[in-house]
Amino acid sequence: MTIAGNNSEVIVVGGGVVGLSIAFRVQQTGHRVILLEKNQCGREASWAGAGIISAANPHRSDAMYRLHCQSIAQYESFCAELTDVSGIDTEYERCGSLDMLTTTQAVEMAESDVRVLADVTTADGKPAVEVIATDDIREVEPNIARNCLAFLLRRDTAQVRNPRLLAALRSACIEHGVDIREGSEVTRFAVEHDRVIGVDCGRYKFRAKHVVLCAGAWSTEIGHGKISDLFKVYPVRGQIMLLHCVDRPIRHVINRRKLYLVCRKDGRLLAGATEEHDSGFMKRNTPDGIRWLTLSTAAAVPKLVDYPVETMWAGLRPGTPDRRPYIGPVPGFEGLIAATGHFRTGLTLAPVTADIVCDLIATGSTAHDLRRCKPGRSFDQPGSVAHRPIIS
Ligand SMILES: Cc1cc2nc3c(=O)[nH]c(=O)nc-3n(C[C@H](O)[C@H](O)[C@H](O)COP(=O)(O)OP(=O)(O)OC[C@H]3O[C@@H](n4cnc5c(N)ncnc54)[C@H](O)[C@@H]3O)c2cc1C
Repeated sequence: MTIAGNNSEVIVVGGGVVGLSIAFRVQQTGHRVILLEKNQCGREASWAGAGIISAANPHRSDAMYRLHCQSIAQYESFCAELTDVSGIDTEYERCGSLDMLTTTQAVEMAESDVRVLADVTTADGKPAVEVIATDDIREVEPNIARNCLAFLLRRDTAQVRNPRLLAALRSACIEHGVDIREGSEVTRFAVEHDRVIGVDCGRYKFRAKHVVLCAGAWSTEIGHGKISDLFKVYPVRGQIMLLHCVDRPIRHVINRRKLYLVCRKDGRLLAGATEEHDSGFMKRNTPDGIRWLTLSTAAAVPKLVDYPVETMWAGLRPGTPDRRPYIGPVPGFEGLIAATGHFRTGLTLAPVTADIVCDLIATGSTAHDLRRCKPGRSFDQPGSVAHRPIIS
């Protein structure tokens, strides 16, 4: 026996930061949205992440750079809007970041960033990026190590307390009338003549004009082989630890090689994260991961060895071979839109992803350039990156 779940105009599959942001924005445009989440909303990668709203990398392809800039430009107002609706403070803060430049190649890249972004300034007229000599760093960030050649300051980097952002998003969705069904695992897409007409959740069937796939690292696990063949999304584990600090030993986000450090307003400090491409769906900490986090943290800010570890966890990023997301209509399957594979930048790119999906639902097209994010793209092109080191 099958049971009709509900009919709506839009079904969103997955309640991470991407799915919740889309549901929130689409419902605001007057569509009826059902969000189906297999467990609880906002408990996977989006919760596990560090909450860095990273400044855009000007060396990426133009289209990705623009998407990134558009997302970070609206982040503060996005958070303010969520706080207004939900009453939850997301702790958004434009804290800036410091990249520790440990090789001459990294210094050259940083100098090139400064040249490329020479005309870009912050709201108070300061350069968006600046190279700082090791001798001058103490005034900017007193506790940082000086075991590098120079530092790149990016003033546009921000941070958000992602568990709070997710709570605010979930609450704002409910406030606006999104029908959130937790504990509803989508098992397959319902397809009729190459058109996706809904999804099945075990015995329940949901039908809608548009289905948006936002199932993160699990996006290719949903039944219907021909659709999952169009995506190469796989789990990339990230291990992260939380240090119990009270005196806010650092102000900026600090990046040293693959390590980053982020200090919350209450002083708690996150050190992350490993990038493990062969983890499968094993969401756990490992001795190698913990060792790497501990040693790398001490190399970046030696004072942190004095602070106790409060807890640690691991999350599964939705990785893709070229590290770019899939955003846009799924070719050959009318009615299905992809918004997945955001890898290391899903928290950062969620607002612009939601805008794009809104455009696609409202008009069938968008002014955003999605050529680099196309579902079904091949990975034989230059620029494709296969697997990266497990723990560097
Ligand atoms: C350790 C770590 C640190 C990170 N740090 C940052 C950072 O600082 N800044 C940044 O921008 N990004 C960061 N990221 C990346 C970011 O977290 C991800 O890109 C982002 O969370 C992806 O969001 P999502 O909504 O696609 O996926 P998820 O948050 O994983 O959500 C997917 C949801 O879909 C649900 N789901 C799956 N299958 C089904 C199904 N069949 N039916 C119904 N529901 C289903 C899942 O239960 C889950 O809730 C980090 C990630 C990790 C792991």
